[in-house]
Amino acid sequence: MPFVAIREDTRRKVDITDYESPKVALGGVSFVCRDCAAPMVIRSGDFVSPHFAHKPGYEDRPCWFRRVAESEAHREAKRRIAAALTNSDFFKGGRVEIEYPIDTEAGRRYIDVYMELPDGRRYAHEAQISGQGIAEFAERSQAYRSQGLEPVWWLGGPARTRENIVWVKQHCAWLGELDITYQERVIIDERDGSDGATSIGSGSVGRGRYQPARA
Ligand SMILES: [Zn+2]
Repeated sequence: MPFVAIREDTRRKVDITDYESPKVALGGVSFVCRDCAAPMVIRSGDFVSPHFAHKPGYEDRPCWFRRVAESEAHREAKRRIAAALTNSDFFKGGRVEIEYPIDTEAGRRYIDVYMELPDGRRYAHEAQISGQGIAEFAERSQAYRSQGLEPVWWLGGPARTRENIVWVKQHCAWLGELDITYQERVIIDERDGSDGATSIGSGSVGRGRYQPARA
């Protein structure tokens, strides 16, 4: 679920990562999803960063954010990428925007982090932290370039394989890397004497780095 939603009163975009305590700062404000226009609420918790979630009852509306069902680790990756790009040495003066819509032949999608430089160059920064094959990298890179966007892949977790790194270095101008630590929490339910243990895996994303991909 997204970081960005539309305020109903002003019809303006709100990026929740701009707020320290969004539930307080944005209390009483109504939001709608920028993709399906369903009402949204702010969700946050011990293990999740504040984000927007659809109110129940609109499940039948087609929505990109529902379809991709991003993990908390992926959301965190977007924040890390935006942080690494803001005030970066390589991309001075760039405008950085989380969840940027583009219309491709396959329909509307949202770039994880969009960046536009003062000279007009545009980049699509995408976090890839779960398995993705070379064919998919190639296809999505082609789709971005057809829109005048240079793709920058940020590889982390299972996607940071030797093969993927080599492909990105050969085909893209930049290589991004994300450090991901997977933690497992075990919840033991002892109420009925059974040993019902549930483990919940979640990833925490460390600092992102990137470099020119010249091999
Ligand atoms: Zn939606």
